[in-house]
Amino acid sequence: MDFSLSIEQNKVILWAREIAAEIKKTALHPEFSAEQFEGKIIRLLAQNNLLCPTIPIEYGGLGLDRFTTALVIEEIAAGFPSAAAVVDATIHAAEPILLAGSRWQKEEYLPALTGVNAGTASFALTEAAGGSDLSLLQSSAVISDGGFVLNGRKDWVINADRAKFVAVIAAIESNQKKAALRVFIVPQAAKGFHLGVKRKTIGLDYAYIGETIFDNAYIEKNNVIKSDEAGSGYLLLTQTFDLGRAMVGATSVGIARAAYETALEYAENRIQFGTRIRNHQTIAFALADMATKIEMARLITWKACWLMDQGGDYSVISAMAKVAASTIAQEVTTGAADILGAKGCEKGSFIEQLVRDARILTTIEGTNHMQKLVISSQL
Ligand SMILES: Cc1cc2nc3c(=O)[nH]c(=O)nc-3n(C[C@H](O)[C@H](O)[C@H](O)COP(=O)(O)OP(=O)(O)OC[C@H]3O[C@@H](n4cnc5c(N)ncnc54)[C@H](O)[C@@H]3O)c2cc1C
Repeated sequence: MDFSLSIEQNKVILWAREIAAEIKKTALHPEFSAEQFEGKIIRLLAQNNLLCPTIPIEYGGLGLDRFTTALVIEEIAAGFPSAAAVVDATIHAAEPILLAGSRWQKEEYLPALTGVNAGTASFALTEAAGGSDLSLLQSSAVISDGGFVLNGRKDWVINADRAKFVAVIAAIESNQKKAALRVFIVPQAAKGFHLGVKRKTIGLDYAYIGETIFDNAYIEKNNVIKSDEAGSGYLLLTQTFDLGRAMVGATSVGIARAAYETALEYAENRIQFGTRIRNHQTIAFALADMATKIEMARLITWKACWLMDQGGDYSVISAMAKVAASTIAQEVTTGAADILGAKGCEKGSFIEQLVRDARILTTIEGTNHMQKLVISSQL
């Protein structure tokens, strides 16, 4: 067993850290706006081909393996978590195409997420009736003119307004059984596709989260992944989530690390009772606990990603990584805010942003309760 990173991986970390520092500088400017998020941060990620780093080189991507992708995501999340959420969602949307898409689907859709003019993509599963219970999904498509007519309303979709395409989960029959689920690739310009309500979320404020509506949207048959294969959508869904959970793990580690580093710096400089507060044992031990938990979260995330790259069975460890790292991100961000005293309560501060962003991680990509169902079912 070898825990050391390669020279190449260390270089990737330093490169991503530099980009993340620039992102953070932009995001923390007092006049930072949604327009700047689009115009500067998304553009910077695109210029560095980082909007979907898992896309193979032959389609214009960086072709990063899962482990190296997790290293990059941790850095971006430590700089500004909304940016990491945009990347996570794009990776997630490209996943079904990478896993099971046809040659045509790969050539048509993956290059749009790469290169200096790259855009983002969305993955749309959740509906008003529920996100955890797939049997409640209402979106459906009927065969028509050699293609499908898609109707449905998806909610809480990241990148909804900026997606080059949306990977939509819908049933091809009305009985809503798992076998009927398919992944539909809906291009931004598809007729009948429009945006609904933009959700105001507690965190990840700039990721643009909202409804996507499909109103008699005509989808060509070649835009449906494995359209003739019963159960293909359900299988793709579980595979996509198994892969995506580790990316939420990496995002959580980045957020926790940023909070810990903020608290450590503050504790080094703040003097109370004649000494730096880090010299008070309560503060020192709190920082020690944070550093320990972050290391645990990172190692379990790395193990999940390593197993993915090795072709091992990563379903349970990926769920464990998501539960552990997102829980730790919540604990560390609130603990770090405590160390900052009143500064930890300041609206508009970096620590406030991190606390709010961390709150979301236990819910997205399948709630942590649902992860425990995955884990416990395989004990
Ligand atoms: C910021 C944000 C971004 C998101 N981005 C996306 C996106 O890009 N695409 C997308 O499709 N969705 C997205 N979601 C939706 C997210 O995936 C769902 O919110 C999540 O899956 C939970 O679904 P729900 O909200 O309908 O809760 P419900 O499924 O209604 O669950 C409510 C509560 O009951 C618990 N619960 C449900 N069933 C069980 C069970 N069997 N055992 C134990 N507990 C259970 C849940 O854990 C939860 O605590 C996003 C959500 C947020 C907040």
